Amino acid sequence: MMTRMPNGRPNNAPRPVIRPKGPIQIGSSLTVRELSEATSVSAADILKIMLKGGVLANINQQIDYDTAALICAEYNIETVQYVPEQMIGIIDNIKDSIAAETEATLITRPPVVTIMGHVDHGKTKLLDAIRQTRVAEGEAGGITQHMGAYQVEISNRKITFLDTPGHEAFTAMRARGAQVTDIVVLVVAADDGVMPQTVEAISHVRAAGVPLIVAINKIDTINANPDLVKQQLAVNNVIVESYGGDVPSVEVSARMRTNIDGLLEMILLVADIQDYKANPNAKALGTVVEAEMDRQRGPIATVLIQNGTIRLDDNVLVGNGTGTVRAMFNDTGKRIRFAEPATPVVILGLNEVPMAGDILQVMDDLTVARSVAIQRQRQIRLDAMANLRSVSLDGLFANIQQGKIKDLNLIMKVDVMGSLGAIEHALGQLNTAEVQIKIIHRGTGTITESDVNLAIASRGIIIGFNARPDPAARRAAEQHGIDIRFYNIIYNLVDEMKKAMIGMLDPEYREITDGYAEVRNTFRLPSREVVAGLYVTDGKINRQLTVRVLRSGVVVHDGRLGSLRRFKEDVREVTSGYECGVVVDGFNDVQDGDTLEFYRKERVERTA
Ligand code: GDP
Ligand code: MG
Repeated sequence: MMTRMPNGRPNNAPRPVIRPKGPIQIGSSLTVRELSEATSVSAADILKIMLKGGVLANINQQIDYDTAALICAEYNIETVQYVPEQMIGIIDNIKDSIAAETEATLITRPPVVTIMGHVDHGKTKLLDAIRQTRVAEGEAGGITQHMGAYQVEISNRKITFLDTPGHEAFTAMRARGAQVTDIVVLVVAADDGVMPQTVEAISHVRAAGVPLIVAINKIDTINANPDLVKQQLAVNNVIVESYGGDVPSVEVSARMRTNIDGLLEMILLVADIQDYKANPNAKALGTVVEAEMDRQRGPIATVLIQNGTIRLDDNVLVGNGTGTVRAMFNDTGKRIRFAEPATPVVILGLNEVPMAGDILQVMDDLTVARSVAIQRQRQIRLDAMANLRSVSLDGLFANIQQGKIKDLNLIMKVDVMGSLGAIEHALGQLNTAEVQIKIIHRGTGTITESDVNLAIASRGIIIGFNARPDPAARRAAEQHGIDIRFYNIIYNLVDEMKKAMIGMLDPEYREITDGYAEVRNTFRLPSREVVAGLYVTDGKINRQLTVRVLRSGVVVHDGRLGSLRRFKEDVREVTSGYECGVVVDGFNDVQDGDTLEFYRKERVERTA
């Protein structure tokens, strides 16, 4: 017999895709389910496309606009990105926004430099030497904290240094999409040569496509061997100019302050070639370099201004917070009233502590800024929820791959204790280096709400082996997204776990339970069939549904109804709170106190 989906389509027919007329509008992100609704492409097909692309998703997963557009392209559905009114004009990429400025408004700005290199090769010492030789002596300013960035002057030109050495800061900022560094100075100790972190730094710089200057440091030491350093760099595809390549190199001693000016001049030379520009007349844009909470002054942020000029009393949107610039300090701690591109400033007046890499944008209207901030906070909560979501077999593989799961916690309810040993043994064989299966609770009979609570607390999955949940447990599981899996054959259980662990789960046939009924009495017909007198306790029951006979939560029979009657009349459906009589086809052992669970199976999109 051909089963039919509720909408009357045979379930083996491909779902027709009714293409929307014209392009569909998609926001910056949406769930797979929402995309499916917008496009009429089935969620299962969307998930399949994502899986082909190596992403194991579920239908509640948030996907970004670009992913959605790619999926739509597979169906020749045009998309346009919908931007909520409040988000119009909100900048998420400073480089692009500067590039969009007309050439006439742009003027040359100072270069922004980061120093990278292997530990102990002299990054900190070099930053100190540069600062001490070149920082303009100013009177003690109003703020005396370490700033995370500073500016030096040479030949009447400025250079900005990010005083957060190490490639962690650089990569962390880049990972957040922040692009602040124009030039990287790679420090290599002349007495130690190219070391693992030197090589790492080279890879990061190459990946970022940022120009590189090599500073061969510690040339004052007896063991200094700059030539060897250059050879080692060449092996790593960094060919310095004296070796015929295009990477400038300078030899310095941070300790003796030898040739610091030579390094600074080299930086200016590279800056001249690259010609970094910004528009000082625009509304300011910048990136947070460092931020912290100050007991007296509230949130304090060091921001590198990258375009425009920031002024006192400007309203700002910073990450998912807002504020008004109440006070501003330069890198010497001096109070300032405005700051131009490539200037690092300390800002007071934010309503919360931003994160390094957050974009600061001056806004005309603080109310609009606040509404954008709230929107961003909501998105962050959504993302956090997606990450903290309970574990499911569907998401298992992705979670394992992302290193989010080391133990797969199972709560095992079985019909008889005897089956446990065999199941545990078989599951034990599946343990891998990445993930260990742990049975954190075992028991017989009904899956209860307390089992579900345990699953919530321990981020576990519930396995019912011939055991079923009661309605309260089912509701709690639905509410908290707890995955309950049912099996009656050990092989199937083990096979599905195995497939889940390698991301190869078959399409799922999810059961939909429509109702529960209690057996109040029974009597035998002359035909020897047993009629069970039922009281429908939950939902509704229907002739067409499959029925499971449960005794103390354990499945004793699974089959179809022979008849459904109310007051001797055949009826199609009985809802909760009413009584009726049924005959379970081919099962004459229904007993008082049994529970009947009425369900149907549907092939559905995977959910978490
Ligand atoms: P970082 O880990 O790269 O920040 O390296 P540091 O700046 O902390 O320097 C590590 C050690 O090398 C310290 O003991 C410095 O005094 C020393 N050092 C740094 N630069 C020089 C240099 O030019 N010559 C010599 N002889 N020692 C240096
Ligand atoms: Mg250091």
